[in-house]
Amino acid sequence: MSGLFVDLHTHSTVSDGTDTPEKLVANAAACGLAAIALTDHDTTEGVLQAQKAAKEWGIECISGCEYAVMIENEEIHLVGLWAPHSSKPLQAALLAARQYRMDRNFMIIEKLQALGIDISIEDVAACAQGESVGRPHIASALQQKKYIKTSTEAFETYLGWQKPAFVPRTLTKPEEGIRLLAEEGATVVLAHPMLSKKMTKERLDDLLSDFKKWGLSAVEVYHSRHRNDAVRITLELAQKHDLLISGGSDYHGTTKPNVHLGIHGLGGRVPMLYLDKMKEHRRRAGLWV
Ligand code: AMP
Ligand code: FE
Ligand code: FE
Ligand code: ZN
Repeated sequence: MSGLFVDLHTHSTVSDGTDTPEKLVANAAACGLAAIALTDHDTTEGVLQAQKAAKEWGIECISGCEYAVMIENEEIHLVGLWAPHSSKPLQAALLAARQYRMDRNFMIIEKLQALGIDISIEDVAACAQGESVGRPHIASALQQKKYIKTSTEAFETYLGWQKPAFVPRTLTKPEEGIRLLAEEGATVVLAHPMLSKKMTKERLDDLLSDFKKWGLSAVEVYHSRHRNDAVRITLELAQKHDLLISGGSDYHGTTKPNVHLGIHGLGGRVPMLYLDKMKEHRRRAGLWV
């Protein structure tokens, strides 16, 4: 087994992270990581910049994105590794998701204004550096205007589930999202499954049976918010369903100060071995690596 380590779930300023793609790669190199995947929400915009920087630093950067689907009124997140920037169907789906985000941002702003808060879509746009704009940017605008002190406080007071300015996202069905990513050549990973409040081992077992039929390849076993029980359950079910193991920090930079690049919830690192196994699987399927 190689002694090298990877991080297969990271965010940059292109969505709701605070490091530019170049800075993220520089940080990854400084942490001694051999490879990262850039997996911004609903966009692959940062991938080319990140890959250019990775070449300079002598590390590997895998193209990726995080794409959400809806099951029983709840978001389920997928990470598409090797998500192709050149795929027209994938880019059309990501564009649609970003447009739904913008419609929702307007609805959230209206709710905040109705609560007497002085905030506009321009204030939010000024807090975003990339094309994928969402609640963390609204949280930054609220912070700049001194309505709240931290991003977490913005979610707990206004933006989170069941809070006064909450608006659900419009998302596709899991079969559509998984099939699209798989058909376009991505390795489809079920991201942080145990973060869902409704998730039990039995439910995850059922979901994985369906997801695998539609093209799921891997489960994110290691994640910054997966502790012992979550790792135990996801590892056992990944093996039961013959799915690959993935792992990443879900690093976002300063908006999630407790999440560190390259480190998962048990405090360890993700071995390169898991990335090597994904590559082997892709080569066997005739896919690029
Ligand atoms: P959105 O994609 O617009 O629905 O916003 C969800 C994003 O907000 C997540 O990907 C996280 O980056 C961030 N987020 C969610 N909950 C919190 C929280 N409690 N505190 C800070 N950031 C959060
Ligand atoms: Fe995020
Ligand atoms: Fe996620
Ligand atoms: Zn993420």
